[in-house]
Amino acid sequence: MALKNKIKNTIINLSARIKNSDYSKCIFYHDIHSNNRFTDMSTSVDMFVKHINVIRELDFEIVHEITKEKNQISISFDDGFKGLYENIGIINQLEIPVTIFVVSSFLDRDNFLSANNLKELAKNKFIKIQSHTHTHPELPTLDSDSLQMELKKSKEILESICETEINSICFPCGMFDKSVIKKALEVGYDKQFSSLSGPYCSEVFPSVKRRSIVQFASEKEFKSILKGGDNILYYWYYKNEFVR
Ligand SMILES: [Zn+2]
Repeated sequence: MALKNKIKNTIINLSARIKNSDYSKCIFYHDIHSNNRFTDMSTSVDMFVKHINVIRELDFEIVHEITKEKNQISISFDDGFKGLYENIGIINQLEIPVTIFVVSSFLDRDNFLSANNLKELAKNKFIKIQSHTHTHPELPTLDSDSLQMELKKSKEILESICETEINSICFPCGMFDKSVIKKALEVGYDKQFSSLSGPYCSEVFPSVKRRSIVQFASEKEFKSILKGGDNILYYWYYKNEFVR
């Protein structure tokens, strides 16, 4: 694993030197922690702050919705872990917009946000809430009724708690296929977020946005990812996450 990561980092760093791009990107994490860690996928607040400093040094603007082809970053967190609520002070202090993709059936479970936490977060001007399905299944494995339920129930629950429109979804484990995209659009998710790395817009599926995972990136690797160093991994993710 360590060797695999080393190879991956070398590819990302080398590729960033060649690309050196400033295309807008979505980056994603799972949680942030200071004292209490709610998931192995969590990023320390110290590292998170370092990432934000790199974004600002490279002159990217942090936004909720990417509207420009270049120089914007959107930040999201998947699953709805509790660390974001406990460490909301740092989001307020840094004044950065973030989106949380929440799995609606995980609310009130150990380590996850409670419905009350979510209600409070939804009122924070820096926070947008969106859907990550109802139970986090691999969507392409579902029959049509279950797929409809996962997409619709999550939207309804989150809209009723947050009192805002839920119109984006991110695919659990990045998995999707053409019928998932079609059903998501029908249910009212205008944008669907994948885990395909690279610039924001996917030339392959117009409603599907690319995102780069950065939760364990060192400062150097993070800088390389912002410069497009992980674009090359798109094909690897595509092969593993898009179901034909
Ligand atoms: Zn997830």
